[in-house]
Amino acid sequence: SREWHLIARPHGWPKPEDFALREAPVAEPGPGRILVRNLFMSVDPYMRGRMNDVKSYVPPFALDAPMDGGAVGEVIASADSRFAVGDHVLHGLGWREYADVEAERAVKADPSLAPLSAYLGVLGMPGLTAYAGLLEVASFKEGDIVFVSGAAGAVGGQVGQIAKLKGASRVIGSAGSDDKVKLLVEEYGFDAAFNYKSGPVAEQLRAAAPDGIDVYFDNVGGEHLEAAISSLNVHGRVVLCGAIAQYNNTEAAPGPRNLALAIGKRLRLQGMLVRDHAALQPQFVQEVAGWIRSGELKYSETVVDGIENGVEAFLGLLRGENTGKMIVSLGR
Ligand code: NDP
Repeated sequence: SREWHLIARPHGWPKPEDFALREAPVAEPGPGRILVRNLFMSVDPYMRGRMNDVKSYVPPFALDAPMDGGAVGEVIASADSRFAVGDHVLHGLGWREYADVEAERAVKADPSLAPLSAYLGVLGMPGLTAYAGLLEVASFKEGDIVFVSGAAGAVGGQVGQIAKLKGASRVIGSAGSDDKVKLLVEEYGFDAAFNYKSGPVAEQLRAAAPDGIDVYFDNVGGEHLEAAISSLNVHGRVVLCGAIAQYNNTEAAPGPRNLALAIGKRLRLQGMLVRDHAALQPQFVQEVAGWIRSGELKYSETVVDGIENGVEAFLGLLRGENTGKMIVSLGR
């Protein structure tokens, strides 16, 4: 079984040499465990943080050991009564071809309800992040004007569409290419979108949201956050979900220079971690699966083939080469 190890801690942008694809033996599962052949694995922005040796909300990856992350696969041997050979499961031991998983930490994934890759994206962790972030953290209400950055990504694309489905009066998105902007407006039903690489974010946001915004869902940080603070209306709410513009910074990024505006506007800026919102999972799956079935919610995936291309897929994600969820396919 091949598995990806982190062999050096990146300083700034990760390099292919910071990783190695290594062989590991595959053993029969011990009691209470299952052996899974991974079919899809997830690469996610938060993994960049785990490559640093700093204390955070998830422990850092160890050096010279397999990395981990979300994956879906097929049970090929089981030593636990809850799982049978042939079952499909979602679990946390990605970045490898075969995973020896504690049954307690696996959940069944039904391929007849949704394509297996969807359990890593639209019906998985990024989907719940969008759903909970907008509905719980942002206290979204009908009539709100919503702005989301990283809008053509896994989380962002879903935030904008859920806002529309729940009665937002206007949804604006930003993304890093003209094709992505086109997708947002023509396929996802955003009212307006702009390419943040084409000009200052503050100017483009002001033009796209002449009446200001009530909610900003921040996936990016930096210049986007500052622009949103300028455009937010009184009692506006910000979900601090991610700050991908600064994950590869080697020095601390300057804060939003206009933060004092938050006083007079009585803004609320709230950080979120998806793991605090597990209670919403059943409602999320039911509602989002319904919207997918009815065609009201669209989603994209960028699928990279082969475990040997796993690191390239991760680096591509940081460079914006994905539209929707970035997934690595291991099946063949
Ligand atoms: P995406 O699918 O959105 O992929 C990342 C995207 O970020 C890229 O496609 C790229 O798109 C964009 N990007 C990269 N660099 C920059 C930059 N400098 N400025 C602006 N955009 C950039 O990933 P996810 O949907 O999985 O995650 C989105 C965000 O949500 C991340 O910040 C992530 O860390 C966060 N997150 C937080 C969670 C939580 O619990 N708090 C849970 C899950 C995700 P483009 O072409 O538009 O630049």
